[in-house]
Amino acid sequence: MKFKHSLLATALIASLSGTALAKSDLFITSGGISLEDIKARSAQVTDASTLSLETDTAVDSPIELDLVLFYQNSLMKVLGEYEGYQHLLAIEDTINETLENSDINAFVTVKDIVMTTSVDDSIPYTQVTGDDGEVLQAGVDEVSSIAMLNSGFEEYDIYTQKWQADHVMYVTDYRTGTTLGAAGINGEYSIILSSGDDTSLATTAHEIGHNWGGNHEYDNVPDYAVAYAHAWECGSSYTIMHSTNDGTREPMYSNPDIAVDGVYCGDEVEADNARVISGNVSASSQRREGVDVVGEVSLDAATYTVYEDETLVVTLTRTGDISNETSVKVFAENDTATFGQDFVDIYQTATFDADSSTATVTFDIVNDLIDEEEETFNLVLRFPYTLSLSDDSEATVFIENVANGTDAGTFSITAPTSLVEGDSGTVTVTRTGETSQEVIVLATSEDGTAEAEIDYLQVNENLYFKAGETQKTFTTEAWADYTDEIAQTYTISLSSDASIAYEAQSAEISIVDTDDGEAGSFIVENGDTTYTEGETITYDINRYYGVTGEVTITGTITWPDYDFDEVTVTATVDDQSITGTWTYTTPDLDIDEEKYEMVISWEASGEATVNPRTNSSNTITSIVEEQSSGGAMNIWLLLLLTPMVFLRRVSFK
Ligand SMILES: [Zn+2]
Repeated sequence: MKFKHSLLATALIASLSGTALAKSDLFITSGGISLEDIKARSAQVTDASTLSLETDTAVDSPIELDLVLFYQNSLMKVLGEYEGYQHLLAIEDTINETLENSDINAFVTVKDIVMTTSVDDSIPYTQVTGDDGEVLQAGVDEVSSIAMLNSGFEEYDIYTQKWQADHVMYVTDYRTGTTLGAAGINGEYSIILSSGDDTSLATTAHEIGHNWGGNHEYDNVPDYAVAYAHAWECGSSYTIMHSTNDGTREPMYSNPDIAVDGVYCGDEVEADNARVISGNVSASSQRREGVDVVGEVSLDAATYTVYEDETLVVTLTRTGDISNETSVKVFAENDTATFGQDFVDIYQTATFDADSSTATVTFDIVNDLIDEEEETFNLVLRFPYTLSLSDDSEATVFIENVANGTDAGTFSITAPTSLVEGDSGTVTVTRTGETSQEVIVLATSEDGTAEAEIDYLQVNENLYFKAGETQKTFTTEAWADYTDEIAQTYTISLSSDASIAYEAQSAEISIVDTDDGEAGSFIVENGDTTYTEGETITYDINRYYGVTGEVTITGTITWPDYDFDEVTVTATVDDQSITGTWTYTTPDLDIDEEKYEMVISWEASGEATVNPRTNSSNTITSIVEEQSSGGAMNIWLLLLLTPMVFLRRVSFK
C-alpha cells in the first residue's frame, strides 16, 4: 500500500489557498489527543466559543485583548533560538500597528510566550491519509487546537486558567504547501506557519483579524454574513485581510475613511473590516477575566557590571500584595554582546515565593577566548504575572573582558550512523586536550537526501562548554512519514566562533525507512536498437513506487526468424536500491545474413512489475551480421551493410 498526504474532506479548519480561515475553532476532547478522538470529533464541530457579531459599538477607552502565544520547538530549531524569540516578540507590535493604522480603538497584549508540550515536532500541517482515505496521522492544525482549547492539556490551562486570556495563537515552522495560517472566524484560536519573515508577521494580523470577524475580499468570500466584512484593493496593494500573500498587503484592515497614497482603502458597502473588527473586539476582550494586578515589579539596578568569568546575579523586587507566588521573565537582548557568544540564555524566569518581595535570577557569562573591549547587552522584564512593570524594568549589563589562553581543546562529534524512522538518537560532542577554557560550539544539521522538517528535526544546538567540561549530548530525531522510501541521509556538523580544533567535525546519519514495503515497478530502458555481433547490450533499470526487497529482472531473448535456443539473462536490484543494470553480450553467430532480429521479453520477480522501454516505443533489437567468407571482405561487407541497416531498420510492435 502506498500513502499520500492529503486533506480529508471533513477537516475541521477549512484552509483556503494562501491564508486561511475557518468556520469554527473549537475542538473538544476529554483526554489525550488520539487519532480516534479526532476522527470521532470531526463530525461534531461546535461553535461554543463563537461570539455573536456586534457592529457599531461605541467605545471610548482603548480595548485591551489578551493573547497567549504558543510556539513549536521546531520553530526555534529552524529560525535559531534567539531569532525565533525576536520573531515571536514582534507579533504584538505587528498586530497593534495594523489596528492603529485602521483606526480601531483596541490593542493586543501578549501575556506570555510558551513552548507547546502537547504537539510533537514531527506532525505535518495537514493530516496524512491512506489509499482508502483513512486518517493515518492527524494534522498539526487539529492537534494543536485540541491542546489549546480543551481542558486536560497544559496549553489550555496556561491560556485559560493561568492567564484567562481572550485569544491564543500557535506558531510553528512553515514546511510545505500554500497555507500560511488558519483561524476561527469570531473564534479565539489561530495558527501561523511561520518562515520567520515579515510575511509571516503580516499573517498574524490577518489571522487574528478573522477572530474578530474580518474576512477576505468579496471575490474570495462573496456570501459572508456581514456584507462589508471584506478586504479591499488599495492602490497597488491590498488590505491585510486580502487572500493574497505575496507581501504586498498594507498593515491595515479595510476602512473606507482611510486613504493610502490618495486611495481610500475600503468601501462602505463592501469593504469595511475595520467596522466589523471595531464592533467585535469589545466582546472578544470579555471572553475571559484576565489576571488582576496586585503589585509592581522592578529590577534592582539600571546597570550591572560583570566580568566574563563571573555569573551575573540580578535581583528583582515587588511591591503590593506579596502573599502569593508569582513570576516575571527576565529577557537578555543583544547589543554588542550577543546570544550564543557572550551569554547563553534567552530569558530566565524570576519566581517570587509567597510572602517574599524579592527574587533572584542568574545569567552565565561566557568567558570567551577573545580579548575584547567592554561589551553590553540589555535586560528586559516581560510577561509579569499578577504584576505590572515599574519604570525600572530594563537595564544594561556591561561585560568586562578577562584575558584567557587561546587553546580551547579539540572537539569530536559522534552520532548513530543510522536511525529508524520515528526514533531518536544521542549525539555526543567531546572535548579533549586543553579543557580549562570556555567555548560555545554550535551543532547544526545539513540536508543530504533527507530533508529537515520533513524527514528529521533540524539540529540547531548551542553547546556551552564551561571550564573543565568535556562532554555535551543532545538528541536528534528521525521522523516517520508514511512513505515507502530509500534510506536518506543528513549530516550534523560542529562550528564555533572561537578557533578550536576538530578531530571529527561532522557525522552522517542514515534514516532507515519503516513503512510497508513495496517492490514497486521497474522501467527497463535502452537508447539503441541496433548492434553489431559480439557487442554488449545494456539496459538501465529504474525502480519507481517502492524500494523494498531484492528484485530479479529477467530478460528472455528469442529470435523470431531463426530456430536458436532462447537465452535467459537476469539482473538484480538490491533491497532499498532503485537502480540496476541488465547486460547481454550478443553472440557472434556463424551465419551469413544481412541482419537478424532478437526480441527481449521482460519479467520481474515477486510482486514487482516491469515496463520495458526502448526509446520508449519497442523492445526489438537488431543485430548486424558481420560474418563473411573472411579476410578483407569482412570489412568491406560491414562498410556496405551498415548504412543499409540504418535505412532498413524495422519497427515491431
Ligand atoms: Zn484568511
